[in-house]
Amino acid sequence: MAAVAPDASGRGAAFKTHTVFNQPPPLEGIDVFSSNLPLVEAVGREGAGWVTGRAAELGRFVGGAPQQEWGRLANENRPVLHTHDRYGNRIDEVEFHPAWHQLMRMGVENELHSLPWTSDDPAAHTARAALYMTAMQAEAGFACPTTMTFAVVPALRAQPELAAEWEPLLTSSSYDPRSIPASEKGSAIAGMAMTEKQGGSDVRANTTVATPLGSGGAGAEYEITGHKWFCSAPMSDVFLVLAQTDEGLSCFLLPRILQDGSRNQFHIQRLKDKLGNHSNASSEIELHGAWARMVGEPGRGVATIIEMVGHTRLDCVIGSAAGMRAAVVAATHHTAHRSAFGRVLIEQPLMRNVLADLCVESEASTALAMRLSRAYDEAHADAQAGEDASDAQLFKRLATAVGKYWTCKRAPNHAFEALECLGGVGYVEESGMPRLYREAPLASIWEGSGNVMSLDVLRALSRTPRSLEVFMHEVEQGSGADPRLDRSITDLKGQFSDPQTLEMRARRVVESMALCLQGSLLVRHAPAAVADAFCASRLAGEGGLEYGTLPPGTDFDAIIARGRAQT
Ligand SMILES: Cc1cc2nc3c(=O)[nH]c(=O)nc-3n(C[C@H](O)[C@H](O)[C@H](O)COP(=O)(O)OP(=O)(O)OC[C@H]3O[C@@H](n4cnc5c(N)ncnc54)[C@H](O)[C@@H]3O)c2cc1C
Repeated sequence: MAAVAPDASGRGAAFKTHTVFNQPPPLEGIDVFSSNLPLVEAVGREGAGWVTGRAAELGRFVGGAPQQEWGRLANENRPVLHTHDRYGNRIDEVEFHPAWHQLMRMGVENELHSLPWTSDDPAAHTARAALYMTAMQAEAGFACPTTMTFAVVPALRAQPELAAEWEPLLTSSSYDPRSIPASEKGSAIAGMAMTEKQGGSDVRANTTVATPLGSGGAGAEYEITGHKWFCSAPMSDVFLVLAQTDEGLSCFLLPRILQDGSRNQFHIQRLKDKLGNHSNASSEIELHGAWARMVGEPGRGVATIIEMVGHTRLDCVIGSAAGMRAAVVAATHHTAHRSAFGRVLIEQPLMRNVLADLCVESEASTALAMRLSRAYDEAHADAQAGEDASDAQLFKRLATAVGKYWTCKRAPNHAFEALECLGGVGYVEESGMPRLYREAPLASIWEGSGNVMSLDVLRALSRTPRSLEVFMHEVEQGSGADPRLDRSITDLKGQFSDPQTLEMRARRVVESMALCLQGSLLVRHAPAAVADAFCASRLAGEGGLEYGTLPPGTDFDAIIARGRAQT
């Protein structure tokens, strides 16, 4: 089609230098759930098939305006901090583009923040994971407050009267960004503030202090003074905060707006100028005698907030798998419509290798995320039945750390390779790939960076040695299906034999655990082509260090056909 048609006078001809061709059509209007076969199958397999219709409805919606417009607009128009109003009054308000609020509303109305806490269905976590992964195809930034609102609930239950007050608000499916008391809105969004300047991984180094307003103790009122170096989504209605008391580090619930409508002593110093995640606000805050109530026992702050941390780590796994899915869709779409050297790129043998490798990684991450979500369902059911060290609970604990380490580590290079499949335009903002790429490292850093997660695996193993048995039991369900997996399982068992060097080797050990788990899931549940490529490249050393190094015997056709979003 001609870019500019010359008019009768021929003046337009001056601009008619070329015809645009060999460019892909826009990828619009797809059902981002139903076209994601590895996810659709995993949802059914892990017990949440009932959510398929609902997820497809969300998938169709997300493939429209959220994916085409909202994500871009919310990122291009970054949040702006207003510390004061025009008269000089302190207001601590962050102004967002309307697209941010549309994304937040979509998340809340689809219960991404609440489903497991409001539904009696035994697979509610798994169902939520499917909805979450679907919504994240539009944009990842709003996942942060969505996740924190989801994750705060189990931690809050440590203080039943606070849970009774706040849980109905936190699980409401209406979104209201106004700075008024949450009880007036009937809904609430939550954040968390642990990290301080002198320590994030090592939160016991926190210097923020909580002083009791009365006799103190669990559920009592305190005043909190100090700072937090990272506090994302600072427009949230309520935060879990760690602060020191006489008894040690304790956990507090701190509302941003007090019951009388006044602002708590919660001051936003500045917003972080982040690598990515631009739609979302992350801030530095100071607390000047802010009113809060203690959650859980004094001195048990880490033990209390760890429930929230654990659930955010689950979402780091789901979110990383979601990012990989978006990368696969973009790369396969572009290469299916772009030719070079006389052939459509998706038919060029070496490009097929890259695409298939990206598809395999994406499917392995999706399978792990969904299996892990089922573990949350099962662990929750066991807890309801009064158990506290069931197999599901031990698997959940260990596999969360393993999965968080590995899927989050694999995401950035996966995004980069997908970006490169688009060539130069992949490096240009309009393609959406830079946004995906910049987002990718965040889940790995947040809530336990790579080393911290690896050490967390060792901690879980040393506290409950039986958790390794439970983990291996899951992995060994794939035994006998592929000798390369069998050998890897044997090798993994051997890696625990020298405890002296275990800490030094922790990353390698955790990587092996993750690969065995993913391999086991794929040999049991994925098409043979996917499982075979995974075992060859990830377990038997027949692949290289970069994507696009699958061995020649790989069934590239089957893998790519499965990974592509059929429009
Ligand atoms: C965009 C963004 C949003 C965030 N939002 C929030 C938020 O809302 N609330 C909040 O509380 N925090 C938030 N954080 C903070 C985040 O959780 C911390 O940055 C993270 O936990 C790491 O802490 P740190 O930055 O102090 O790094 P450090 O703890 O100093 O760690 C630096 C490095 O050392 C490694 N390391 C640490 N201990 C060991 C060890 N024993 N052995 C080997 N290596 C080790 C870590 O893995 C890391 O690679 C956010 C961070 C980002 C980037």
